[in-house]
Amino acid sequence: MCGILGLFGRSPVGERLVEGLLTLQHRGQDSAGILTSDTTTHLKKGNGAVAQVFNEKNLARLTGNIGIGHVRYPTSGPGSDEDAQPFYVNAPFGIAIVDNGNVTNYPDLRRELVDKDHRQLTSYSDAEPILNVLAEELGRTNLARFGPESVFRAVKATFRKVKGALSVVALIQDKGLLAFRDPLGIKPLVFARQGRDFGFASESVAFDRLGFRRFRDVAPGEAIFVGMDRRVHARQIARPRHRPCIFEYVYFARPDSVMDGIEVYEARLRLGRRLGEEVVRHGVKPDLVAPVPDTARAAATELAATIGVRLREGLIKNRYIPRTFIMPRPSDRTRTVRQKLNPVRSQIKGRDVLLVDDSIVRGTTSRQIVKMVRDAGARRVFLAITAPPLRYPCVYGIDMMTRGEFIAKRYSVDKIRKLVDADALVYQTYDGLVEAVRGNMKDRRFCTACFTGEYPTGVTRRDLAALERERRRCIA
Ligand code: SF4
Repeated sequence: MCGILGLFGRSPVGERLVEGLLTLQHRGQDSAGILTSDTTTHLKKGNGAVAQVFNEKNLARLTGNIGIGHVRYPTSGPGSDEDAQPFYVNAPFGIAIVDNGNVTNYPDLRRELVDKDHRQLTSYSDAEPILNVLAEELGRTNLARFGPESVFRAVKATFRKVKGALSVVALIQDKGLLAFRDPLGIKPLVFARQGRDFGFASESVAFDRLGFRRFRDVAPGEAIFVGMDRRVHARQIARPRHRPCIFEYVYFARPDSVMDGIEVYEARLRLGRRLGEEVVRHGVKPDLVAPVPDTARAAATELAATIGVRLREGLIKNRYIPRTFIMPRPSDRTRTVRQKLNPVRSQIKGRDVLLVDDSIVRGTTSRQIVKMVRDAGARRVFLAITAPPLRYPCVYGIDMMTRGEFIAKRYSVDKIRKLVDADALVYQTYDGLVEAVRGNMKDRRFCTACFTGEYPTGVTRRDLAALERERRRCIA
């Protein structure tokens, strides 16, 4: 999971890129980077959150009316400085890209680029192979006759060679701003315009902050190119088979975003309603409902209303600790939970508390939270989860890559309940998840591979094993 942004304005975009990245910060805190362009390119990137990487001094160097930005959460690389985006190549002309997603044929593609095409790759980020393939394909065009058609041909070839989830924004020096989304549209990408200003972003919320009023999703399989003359060229490059990531609606996206026509906050309320029905069906009767902050709050609100029990803040979050899920190493995650959450004893003591959380991956976090609430004096602690059991690795850019990590892959729900030491454990059903997120978009289908193991790109066991090896190598 990463956040990407591209802006083409009538005035310098450096500051606005920083503002936009701040609204996308929840999508990754591992690194941040911005590249802008005027007569030449200006790049600043580094490890850390946006506020740590950018300051007045380096921002002053980011001149130019066109630029791209990125916040990163490491999925394929080890999280070193070299893996921070944007990436840039000089030939056939200056091209820089930022991407959100994961290349599922990364090991093969990397080998081919290095051994066959003699490309120099400087990192283990999957953005770099995408950039090199795109550059290679753009290099095949007649540069004197460069135009939108050259761009669309290059994107088509990139779709043929690069497999997986790709939402990409590219800056082509002196030519324009390009964005494209793979035919499955697994990762979100939004296009906005306001008069003669243009933008692309992972989530619509970035445009709320930047003052764009009109936006639309980049369609799956679509490429949009805004030339330096500010003309917009949009082309459906590949047949769309839309399968957006359903987990964006459960956890990743900001609740005030709209993705592929679905309001994230509304989807979370519906998830809470469906989960409330499950809680009733399981005969769980708490004294109060408490969200595990922050992503489960909307669902917990609606769940409490559905079962007719009051909602209380039973846990308070220290907002200055990074999101647990986006800490790549298990030792970091364990420490972070204790730093991040603290119980409100006055609400918990002597009561039966139903905690609402969005997911259980390894079970270590849930166990610590249940213990924390018990230690604060709760009589009984129940757990309700807005997503069904997670069982399969995500190969499209989320850090739950290795198969051994899933508690639900190895154990039954009752065994998980015992392991996390809850008095009851209620999961969302699969149908409940899909129907709640879908809302009134009855025909919408999603990527639900982490729940079902059915990968929309047809990932093979060999691909999975290779990606897992890559991931283990990176976090070793
Ligand atoms: S596997 Fe799960 S987390 Fe990954 S893209 Fe699909 S739904 Fe999203």
